[in-house]
Amino acid sequence: MTLTSKFGFSKLVLGFMGAALLLSGCGAEVELTSEPVEPVTNTVVDDHSGWWCNAHGIPEDQCSMCSAKAAKEFKADGDWCEEHNRAESQCFKCDASRADKFANLYEAKYGKQPPAITP
Ligand SMILES: [Zn+2]
Ligand SMILES: [Zn+2]
Repeated sequence: MTLTSKFGFSKLVLGFMGAALLLSGCGAEVELTSEPVEPVTNTVVDDHSGWWCNAHGIPEDQCSMCSAKAAKEFKADGDWCEEHNRAESQCFKCDASRADKFANLYEAKYGKQPPAITP
């Protein structure tokens, strides 16, 4: 291979690539897409002060299912339901009447029955 033929070859390749670039440049049309409208989601799941845990029917700071701190304390006291992974005294699955104690707390604060538990 001589120097001149090598130069000629690369020139050819460059020319080809340039043409391809031009072609693809023409082919790709710039399309103006309208801005995606963001959906307004204002669904209020919990309108309480965060005091009450709607999901478990227990004040949040005492809820062994939401508060790791509370859970630790219940476990330390030996008050724990292994089967349902919550404080035994808060396990409404084992004894539904336990919910009444917490419902009374809610009623004392808001003057009405707590919302149905929504797990
Ligand atoms: Zn909870
Ligand atoms: Zn249980």
